[in-house]
Amino acid sequence: MTEVFSPVMWQRAERDSVFGEGGFDALVVVGHQFELPDFPELKQLVSHAIGIDSGIARQPTLLLAPGLAGGRLVLAPTGALDDDYLDVRQFAEAAQAGMARALAAGAKHPLLLVERSDDSRYSEALSAALLGAGQQLYQPFDVKRQPMTIGVLGLENVARANALEIGRTLARDLCGGDPEQMAPPAFADYCAEHFAGSAVSVEVISDRAIIERDYPLLSGVARASYGVARHEPRVVRLVYRSSGAIHKSWLLAGKGVTFDTGGADLKIGGAMAGMSRDKGGAAAVAGLMAALAQLQPKGVEVIAELGLVRNSIGREAIVPDEIITGHSGKRVRIGNTDAEGRLVLADVLSHLRELAPAMANQPTLMSLATLTGHVVRSYGPYSAVVENSVARARGDGGQLQAISEQLAEPFELSRLRREDFAQVAARTPSEDLLSSNNGASVNISRGHQFPMAFLIGAAGLDQHQLGSDLPLPYLHLDIAGSAVEKRDPLYGMPTAVPVATLLALLLDY
Ligand SMILES: [Zn+2]
Repeated sequence: MTEVFSPVMWQRAERDSVFGEGGFDALVVVGHQFELPDFPELKQLVSHAIGIDSGIARQPTLLLAPGLAGGRLVLAPTGALDDDYLDVRQFAEAAQAGMARALAAGAKHPLLLVERSDDSRYSEALSAALLGAGQQLYQPFDVKRQPMTIGVLGLENVARANALEIGRTLARDLCGGDPEQMAPPAFADYCAEHFAGSAVSVEVISDRAIIERDYPLLSGVARASYGVARHEPRVVRLVYRSSGAIHKSWLLAGKGVTFDTGGADLKIGGAMAGMSRDKGGAAAVAGLMAALAQLQPKGVEVIAELGLVRNSIGREAIVPDEIITGHSGKRVRIGNTDAEGRLVLADVLSHLRELAPAMANQPTLMSLATLTGHVVRSYGPYSAVVENSVARARGDGGQLQAISEQLAEPFELSRLRREDFAQVAARTPSEDLLSSNNGASVNISRGHQFPMAFLIGAAGLDQHQLGSDLPLPYLHLDIAGSAVEKRDPLYGMPTAVPVATLLALLLDY
């Protein structure tokens, strides 16, 4: 593994750094009232400035501040925090804007100070500020990256913060790469290189005969990509297992559609642009694994499979009405070839399901995907988590949601219903399941919930309900609305959501 993979590294800074120790070249203060009880000199300066220009409390502002780090003081206001409907994103966004202002001023080694709040909504204000600052500081892999070290006052778990940023960097690289830079073989190579020699083992399945035999639904999606070697599918397996007793086991499936033309149900009218980001689920799973490789936490094992496919169009493309028997043995009739992500995930989940009986703990399954336009229509920039019955009985979705809320990666909790299963039920004796209807998910009721009903059936997880011999909790995460910054839905930077939430959930912090 590359020694310093992330160009952005956090460093714990002490009080003296504010006044020039450590060579920092800007002080970025994320605050709501700028009370700063530990820094009376600073508070006096800020109060004086706000007295002259009240706009300072509303937008990021740079003040000349001789005697402070680099002579630059950037005030990054969160705004008032008492409104009932606000959340910790106030801190993430203020830190992002403040960091942007510092960089615009020429800072290369900024120092971050975050004013705390007693309100429990903001208990992870510092973590959220790091996520926001890290988002701004991210540099794509295809530009010459400048390594940066950011000082953070009061940062306690430096190792965890850096492991997380490394994971988020990998996730953003993989999600952000263009359709050629991160076509399936290139995506797999990037993972193989990153994890080589690390605590995460990596295996790449590239043999066409094996993929067609073991991942028939995924192969259906990939069919039109064969013949162009650099677009052919891959499955990447990543495994992290800590030494000693294992207390928590996860099985993760990531959708990595490296470009989605829609296939024979071609995306038209300009709807194809931005579809290189349809690999955000696989990218986030890889990002979590990268954080684990770095941190090497005790007591956990995580097995991940990434289904990497380009949904191309061509004379070999699958068409609606085809029936393909998946890895689980279920016969799937294709409804719409643009509903390809669920086909990829179904086979991957089916493989993960087979691992469950031999595991020491009851594992939790998750699928991560930029799956539907419907989730964007339903929830805007929020992610959705949908639970199966076993996960719901344990409260898994609610727990994930609570953590996501604290870490500025908010999820909405959606419930799976009987109508979702009816939606994908067989229409003729020739199939067991219908993959989708023939419209775009965005125009279909329950368009982000019912795909999970399909995944449960097509992956064979219907055999693992509450009353079964081996109930398996399963969460489906649809991140189509959150994988890319919403400032620019087509070309915004990838966000690496929900790597921070998953790491916190896995490690119980
Ligand atoms: Zn699609």
